[in-house]
Amino acid sequence: MPDYEIEDHYYDVVVVGAGGAGLRATLGMATAGLKTACISKVFPTRSHTVAAQGGIGAALDNMGEGDNWKYHMYDTVKGSDWLGDQDAIEYMCRNAAPAVIELEHYGVPFSRTEDGNIYQRPFGGHTLDYGKNMARRACSAADRTGHAILHTLYQQCLKHQAAFHIEYFVLDLLMNDEGECAGVIALCMEDGSLHRFWGQQTVLATGGYGRVYFSCTSAHTCTGDGNAMALRAGLPLQDMEFVQFHPTGVYGAGVLITEGARGEGGYLTNSEGERFMERFAPNAKDLASRDVVSRAMTIEINEGRGVGPNKDHIMLHLEHIDPETLNMRLPGIMETAKIFCGVDITKEPIPVLPTVHYNMGGIPTNYNGEVLAPTADDENHVVPGLMAIGEAACVSVHGANRLGTNSLLDIIVFGRAAAKRAAETITPGDAPRTAPQSATDKAIARLDKMRHADGDVTAASIRLEMQHAMQRHAAVFRSSESLADGVERMDGIAAKMAKIGVKDKSLIWNTDLIEALELDNLIGQALVTIRSADQRQESRGAHAHEDWPERDDDNWMKHTIMRLDERNKSDLSYRGVVMNTLSNDVAPIPPAPRVY
Ligand SMILES: Cc1cc2nc3c(=O)[nH]c(=O)nc-3n(C[C@H](O)[C@H](O)[C@H](O)COP(=O)(O)OP(=O)(O)OC[C@H]3O[C@@H](n4cnc5c(N)ncnc54)[C@H](O)[C@@H]3O)c2cc1C
Repeated sequence: MPDYEIEDHYYDVVVVGAGGAGLRATLGMATAGLKTACISKVFPTRSHTVAAQGGIGAALDNMGEGDNWKYHMYDTVKGSDWLGDQDAIEYMCRNAAPAVIELEHYGVPFSRTEDGNIYQRPFGGHTLDYGKNMARRACSAADRTGHAILHTLYQQCLKHQAAFHIEYFVLDLLMNDEGECAGVIALCMEDGSLHRFWGQQTVLATGGYGRVYFSCTSAHTCTGDGNAMALRAGLPLQDMEFVQFHPTGVYGAGVLITEGARGEGGYLTNSEGERFMERFAPNAKDLASRDVVSRAMTIEINEGRGVGPNKDHIMLHLEHIDPETLNMRLPGIMETAKIFCGVDITKEPIPVLPTVHYNMGGIPTNYNGEVLAPTADDENHVVPGLMAIGEAACVSVHGANRLGTNSLLDIIVFGRAAAKRAAETITPGDAPRTAPQSATDKAIARLDKMRHADGDVTAASIRLEMQHAMQRHAAVFRSSESLADGVERMDGIAAKMAKIGVKDKSLIWNTDLIEALELDNLIGQALVTIRSADQRQESRGAHAHEDWPERDDDNWMKHTIMRLDERNKSDLSYRGVVMNTLSNDVAPIPPAPRVY
């Protein structure tokens, strides 16, 4: 093994990721007096959270409709199709209002109502009085809510002296023989030096893995590196079959048009000009939850009522809305539609298509952010020293399907929860955990193998093949046949990693190498996603199975837990859904038929 110079850094807490989740945790830890590092492969304010448009959900009741966190909880459990853990959902919905008001006090420039309160708009699946009417619960900063939150949090972190290590690519977790996480090893992309970050607590806040798919709304950096690190450490991922398709990605470009557009009064039509959502969801119509709208659009297209010469998309109308409102509430959407499809939204509809948007699955955790690695005798076994938050984690508050505005809420509430937990369990200045040299050697061996790989297949070609396979075989609708084919195809594609070639052998700004490492991370997650989908014989939330069209609570109200070994062999087990609520203030919400 070649000698790399390694610099060691010692902290109380090491946070990997500077999106909304990572920054909120970093801020909470730093203000609690913990020496905190925040490591990010991109500049913090370039994390994918910056792209979040529509809003963050909290029952503030600023619109005077009598909103209440219990209604929010009911909607979230129902939206999750009863796969969400109800203790965590109660925790999130109860803490939503204080967490958003904290953001306001940190300086997030929310849009305002006439009387100066935070403006709130309707979003899919959010209702009042247990499903009776649509609620206005999404707190927004025009249609640039993530941008506003991310910039504010970054500035607050700087104010509280958090230590940033920017453009460091974290390679792997440093695990010890006791199964604890002692920190991470990272490559500084600017000069090629290696760094070990040791801490009492490591927090993965590395975001989703949308780039497993060909058409997705997430940034090119969304490669789920933390999930892959967990897999390599022998830890499982949970509920990876549940991938959310957002109904309104711009046709051809994949860029997102926020659900807030329908919240402000937008609606969808097919080639006959029909507002077809009235047929599929007579109550919520265009604001039914995302899985319902995406399936309805796919059915319209599959039955020949798609728009355009190839009858392959749907139209989103905003041109009936007052241009002044569009300017004030959806300025980013006006710009996006102009740039990506040449449409003036005050005059014409936008061509849209369901596009991969969010990963409900991820690293299993409890509502304190602590990572769970279920064993035969303890399905809630906590991995010492390791937390996961944000889209990388599966708490699980979103279950089989996430409601719009609940991810910004998830990253803020659980970033905050992780910081609170760390402040309770860690003494500032105590010795960090340790891991043997073999943990470092293993990570360096993987880096070296990729750096010196001299096969004749490019990372780009394997990536494209994987993305097409996943788009085709793990789509809005799945069938036993398409999934079985997909599993086989993905096995073949994963095997090609042995023939990959990386041309640039240097260590300075080697994007060739970084992309190959990211692809390696994506491949593991693609395997787990398609295999998890292949084994679930029911339809629930985002997993719409043509051969098993009903939700089957007797057999399948359980979380999928999957591990992957070095030879890509997977190990499947299950974890019970937490049906107990956190307090006696609400009773558990029992499964009910799906009526929209
Ligand atoms: C276009 C779009 C619009 C959205 N709109 C909304 C909305 O309106 N409301 C809502 O609730 N949700 C929305 N979502 C979802 C929500 O924005 C995301 O789920 C959420 O922001 C994810 O935050 P995060 O902190 O978990 O991860 P991210 O913001 O993706 O951040 C990940 C961080 O991890 C770092 N990282 C990753 N890998 C490594 C590595 N190997 N080494 C070092 N650092 C690493 C990155 O540099 C980055 O800082 C939207 C998503 C998209 C894509």
